Amino acid sequence: MWDIEMEIVALPGQRAGGKVWLVGAGPGDVELLTLKAYRILQTADVVLYDALVSEEIMALVPQDAEKIAVGKRAGKHSAGQDEINQLLVTKAFTRQNVVRLKGGDPFIFGRGGEELQTLVEAGLEFEVVPGITAASGTSAYAGIPLTHRDYAQGVTFITGHCQLESRPMDWKAYANPNNTLVIYMGILNAGLIKSGLLGAGRNIDTPVAIVSKATTQDQKCFIGTLGELERLAANPGLKMPALMIIGEVVELADSLNWFKPDSNQKDRVRNEWIQTDLAQNK
Ligand code: SAH
Repeated sequence: MWDIEMEIVALPGQRAGGKVWLVGAGPGDVELLTLKAYRILQTADVVLYDALVSEEIMALVPQDAEKIAVGKRAGKHSAGQDEINQLLVTKAFTRQNVVRLKGGDPFIFGRGGEELQTLVEAGLEFEVVPGITAASGTSAYAGIPLTHRDYAQGVTFITGHCQLESRPMDWKAYANPNNTLVIYMGILNAGLIKSGLLGAGRNIDTPVAIVSKATTQDQKCFIGTLGELERLAANPGLKMPALMIIGEVVELADSLNWFKPDSNQKDRVRNEWIQTDLAQNK
């Protein structure tokens, strides 16, 4: 990994023969891939893929295509963003169909925009194929509609990184009780999120769901209240990636939860529901 600011090197005077396809792979279930993503993957000469892209999806890539893992996982780094950008540019000069494959949708917390800006600077041709973002996949497979006329008139997707001091979290806006909040990358900051929302006036009994490995056979759903957010996030059964959904709509999971991951393996817990205070709070 390079830790210095790098300038992206294109080849002056030469035209890149290749094209870059920025493709969303969806949240996990291979069948949630779009037909377009499927078609593009099958023509790929090289695929640069993230850690979130499942093995099943990578199995759709032709055997002779070059596969480069560039994924980032919290705490672990395999390639720096500069390195990924440079690789994309270099590959576009040397290969025909370069696929940059990302989990979910490339334009939702996927740095897709940043990578495309590099391609623009290098004068490269590209196309974008959207994917089903984790919020949609999780919502569908956990039976939690993100909006509902009786519960939520809107939905907001935020990152739970809580890192940027220059752009602090707008807790007041997120505390709106008629709005569903979907938090990506928030598990490690459950405590901050809980206190931010409570401090801004969101009700401590607001239902919350943490769904891990959504849309896969390992999906697990942990349900409770905002007051219990940290406890839910600390459950040892919770595996990454995981998404938080906060809002009254979570109550609907009780009756709309249709997805039953098959449990052929003995040690697999079937859709583990932690129905803590929800029932009592009604
Ligand atoms: N571009 C992706 C998001 C990348 S950020 C998208 O549109 O979905 C990574 C975060 O997405 C994770 O920390 C987690 O919060 C969420 N996520 C991705 N896949 C998920 C899955 N299958 N189940 C639950 N959360 C998921």
